Amino acid sequence: MDDQLERLNSLPLRDDLRGQHPYGAPQLDVPIQLNVNENTYGVPADVQEAIVEAVRAVAGGLNRYPDREFTELREALAEYLGHGLSAEQLWAANGSNEVLQQLLQAFGGPGRTVLSFPPTYSMYPLLASGTGTAYLRGERSADFSLSPESAAAQVREHAPNIVILCSPNNPTGTALGLDVVEAVYEAGEASQSIVIVDEAYAEFAQAGTSTALTLLPGRPRLVVTRTMSKAFALAGARLGYLAAAPEVIDALRLVRLPYHLSAVTQATALAALRHRDSLMAEVEAIKAQRDRIVRELTRLGLAPAASDSNFVFVTGFEDPQAVWRGLLEVGVLVRDVGIPGSLRVTAGTEAETTAFLTRLEELLAH
Ligand SMILES: *Cc1c(COP(=O)(O)O)cnc(C)c1O
Repeated sequence: MDDQLERLNSLPLRDDLRGQHPYGAPQLDVPIQLNVNENTYGVPADVQEAIVEAVRAVAGGLNRYPDREFTELREALAEYLGHGLSAEQLWAANGSNEVLQQLLQAFGGPGRTVLSFPPTYSMYPLLASGTGTAYLRGERSADFSLSPESAAAQVREHAPNIVILCSPNNPTGTALGLDVVEAVYEAGEASQSIVIVDEAYAEFAQAGTSTALTLLPGRPRLVVTRTMSKAFALAGARLGYLAAAPEVIDALRLVRLPYHLSAVTQATALAALRHRDSLMAEVEAIKAQRDRIVRELTRLGLAPAASDSNFVFVTGFEDPQAVWRGLLEVGVLVRDVGIPGSLRVTAGTEAETTAFLTRLEELLAH
């Protein structure tokens, strides 16, 4: 890495990128991969077939640029989300990471700021630096919760151009109450802050958890981002999307690359949406394993956070790095998110979860 940094420094790189490290969750070839919150169920055979058919149907026309407005896909996404949304309120890109990048390009940039509340998604500061937006680190309580009063006060103090709320939050797993979103939106009135709610894990939320989509009417500065990477089991297809007021979508048209969503991506996503019942059939099974992990880790004397996502954040380890290594040695990859005493684990299939829990219990017994 130091060699790499030195080589980089020999280039006329932007000053604000010097010394920075790229996103780097390890991609290791181990049997049980529970480190990046993928859906560990494979794509079902009928959905594979439908995707292949859909891609075959567009292959002959790949000499032409795709539909720049991906109208059919936006209609299908609006129909999936419901809440009275229409296609003119939907937007998509290659992963919700690209959606977030476009939002930062349009509403952030040099001289502007984005406020978020660590520990949260590690890509926010990287997207900020890539777009030349100053990243402001907000504060949470010691238990990682965020109250409406505290969040609103921090927004009033910093007057940021953009606020990103991650709900359910990665890496801690817990969803925010809509009162936090409402308070942040109101506090951002004076600074006209764009408020982004990243709901990448919304489909895994506990019963009774509300989505910020319900708050969109009458809030033109509110944006809700979603992805097909998690519940839809489609991380490899790269399709993220958002819902917002039509004028927000107009702003994104100013910064997106022309034809940014390939015809292959559009066809794949449409086929997946048509077969979503089959594709998302395992969401309930994953939630059951998630709840099982929380119960079992509690029994082992650890302190798992309440989870509305497909992963569990757990504190209480004396030496999390040793546990991380010990699990890897027996073929189980989890995530060390760099928070003292803690690890994060994705809920996989029942067999994967059993393997993780069994091996963890063995490690802790030693
Ligand atoms: C996984 C994840 C995403 C999804 O990113 P994609 O680019 O859509 O794959 C977005 N936000 C958070 C918080 C995530 O954990």
